[in-house]
Amino acid sequence: MTPHQPSQGLTRPLPMPVRPYEDETTRSYIRRINTANALHHGELMKVLKRARRPWVYSLSVWMETQPDTLVLAMPQLGKHRSEPAFRQKLVGRPIRTTHSPACHRCTLTRDAGPYIEIYTTHERVICPDHSLWIGEGIAGFTDQFTVHACPEITTAWHHHKNLITRHGHSQVRRAFHIASVINWSWYDQFQHFTAAMDIYDTLAGEHPRQANSKALLAAALYPSIVTLTAVIAHPIGWRTPARPVPTFSSNGSATKSPTDGNHREPSTPCDTGWKPTGHPDSADPTRFSRANPND
Ligand SMILES: [Zn+2]
Repeated sequence: MTPHQPSQGLTRPLPMPVRPYEDETTRSYIRRINTANALHHGELMKVLKRARRPWVYSLSVWMETQPDTLVLAMPQLGKHRSEPAFRQKLVGRPIRTTHSPACHRCTLTRDAGPYIEIYTTHERVICPDHSLWIGEGIAGFTDQFTVHACPEITTAWHHHKNLITRHGHSQVRRAFHIASVINWSWYDQFQHFTAAMDIYDTLAGEHPRQANSKALLAAALYPSIVTLTAVIAHPIGWRTPARPVPTFSSNGSATKSPTDGNHREPSTPCDTGWKPTGHPDSADPTRFSRANPND
């Protein structure tokens, strides 16, 4: 098969149409078009850069697809579209900053090949249909692994989505970022995190080839990160119960302050602050320090 000449096909459809995948990056889509039509790597990109019009129109001609269809699948192609009714359809789609491989079982199911790069968001860490980890640490589709053996991860994912419903996406995104930095810092400092290590050991036993990978560690830390995210995202998450202010009598002994009668005992998880879960007799230094934040 001789390579197709894209310069000749600029205004006509290419022989092999490629269906766009939801939230696929433009780079990934063009790569798949190149592959399907036996084009040289980078040929289509050269033509697109030479054309003096938005890429979506050239792609729609090559694929014999309406431009709107491409934009609904890949909103980054619709920057020039300002119609309110059309933009309303794109509300809530991923922010165009982070991308990662899509669940390869989903892409194979849709005849799109094993590797598609998609724009993603912080809460898209597992595929709900296949329970594959697609979050932090995944560089290629071969890095993805199932989390069936650790229901804590799926439970945390549902908790994560509920937090977004309750507090809004941007607030939870900020909180999740802070919680991630804190948890990874604790792990890097102590190289031990009991609750996470229990999950890590289970996952490593299921997927020995992934052992020691960042993705496996990220999955193990995820429930702890979500738990801390819940506290940070909550409007009063960091409020700790007021502590009685001791006063001293003339003989030097401490007595209760007059405000002790109004002292509010912690009654909700948020009042008590975040506490890692796990075995109470753990020697984990991170658990010890965080479980006693006032010590
Ligand atoms: Zn999937």
